[in-house]
Amino acid sequence: MSALEHAAVLELRDVHKLFGENHVLTGVDLLIEKHEVVVLIGASGSGKSTLMRTVNLIERVDDGQILLSGDDITDPRAATDKVRARIGVVFQHFNLFPHMRVIDNVTLAARKVHRMPADEARTKGVDLLTRFGLGDKVDEYPDRLSGGQQQRVAIVRAILTDPELLLLDEITSALDPMLVGEVLDLVRSLKDQGSTILMATHEMSFARSVADRIVFMHQGRILEQGTPEQVFDAPREAATQEFLARVT
Ligand code: ADP
Ligand code: MG
Repeated sequence: MSALEHAAVLELRDVHKLFGENHVLTGVDLLIEKHEVVVLIGASGSGKSTLMRTVNLIERVDDGQILLSGDDITDPRAATDKVRARIGVVFQHFNLFPHMRVIDNVTLAARKVHRMPADEARTKGVDLLTRFGLGDKVDEYPDRLSGGQQQRVAIVRAILTDPELLLLDEITSALDPMLVGEVLDLVRSLKDQGSTILMATHEMSFARSVADRIVFMHQGRILEQGTPEQVFDAPREAATQEFLARVT
């Protein structure tokens, strides 16, 4: 086997990010293996979103390296579009195109970026929407769907082209509490089918039940990490204990 086949899906090496004087990522090292579900927790402002945005190259790192399946995506020569095409992303605010039907939202990137034939994209899209309980919404416009349904559509869009990595940033934070469960159920089924996921969430009970590893971010770095049992039941660091006391 080549070295590449052993490469982790994602590797961050001493990643730093500054916004002006604000040192937001202060040396992040993180390794995510294939099929792993890693959940970022930490106070608002601790750098979770910035970390994920550097992986998707929305933000450029100021120092350090990020490797995607062994490829250095922080190399200035790396093609941003090609890197983004390998990563599925869902953020807090589902940004579906309001003038496009669900199926067209779901297949747009597959057709335009991945050059997937339209009929193949449609078949795959209908198949996934059906599997996730949205089979009757294929030809609807987004504004006819609930927030939870829209967010599930956004997830289907993100997984249509089988990305190497899924980034899910607070995907339930803008939802009516009644609608959170259906979105989390979908994330759980993605885990069950072997997706590699890096997510940030405030849903601590979900984090505990779905994560292979919990990563606690504090002031721009990883302060501690471990299994859900280790981090939630026996946090080592005072800052972790304080955070958990506030949120659980
Ligand atoms: P979290 O997701 O953990 O709440 P963020 O990554 O959003 O944390 O924010 C970390 C810090 O970076 C905060 O101090 C925030 O104000 C700052 N920040 C984030 N994005 C920007 C930006 N585009 N420009 C300037 N500062 C930013
Ligand atoms: Mg955030």
